[in-house]
Amino acid sequence: MKLLVSNDDGIYSPGLSTLATSLRTVAEVIVVAPDRNQSAASHSLTLERPLRIHPLDNNAYIVNGTPTDCVHLAITGMLGIKPAMVISGINQGANLGDDVLYSGTVAAAMEGRFLGFPAIAVSLVGEDLKYFSTAAEVAKRFVMRLLVEPLPANTILNINVPDVSFPLLSGVRVTRLGYRHISEPVVEGVDPRGGKVYWIGSPGREQDGGPDTDFCAVREGFVSVTPLLVDITAHEALSPLVSWVNELL
Ligand code: MN
Repeated sequence: MKLLVSNDDGIYSPGLSTLATSLRTVAEVIVVAPDRNQSAASHSLTLERPLRIHPLDNNAYIVNGTPTDCVHLAITGMLGIKPAMVISGINQGANLGDDVLYSGTVAAAMEGRFLGFPAIAVSLVGEDLKYFSTAAEVAKRFVMRLLVEPLPANTILNINVPDVSFPLLSGVRVTRLGYRHISEPVVEGVDPRGGKVYWIGSPGREQDGGPDTDFCAVREGFVSVTPLLVDITAHEALSPLVSWVNELL
């Protein structure tokens, strides 16, 4: 059994190596990961330049591209892998609420699902992260469970794990995505030649952290698991939209 592991923090991320080491106790693991931090790369593919692959020891490969590139290459020809599952992470930081729209971690899992394989995304939530081993153990348990009882083919799991030692986890909660306030403003600076530059600001604080949300679960010490659909059609908006567009032409 082969598992494909990727991430968006890059090949040298401690979350990636901890995850791969944990999964290697139960399966053959192939790691294909970006050569640098690609956090917030979302679901981007690199189309305007060629991609190169650099093999490392221990069934690992570096790609000079995005998380989606990595999974895409690994499955569609570069390695010709038919993984039992794609596992993305362990991300260094939360992927809660609207984070999932920007997340390269979630996108790598989604790409695996697009290409026909079960997939999960795993993130460790907190500051000054210490317990990647906790998230790795959680990931391993989810993988083993999914192998026995798979989920529908249109679904991936977005898993967020509080940064505590494994025995201190309160349990697992199935959650919906919450929402954040809008992002902090851009941070303006000046380059050495006097030109203005900008840094994208921090994500907003949680706004909707209601009891059934991913935010609330991790705040209360639970592993949060949110099923995400590949099909993002707003099905409940279909029929209202029919009469709305009738006025157009
Ligand atoms: Mn990241």
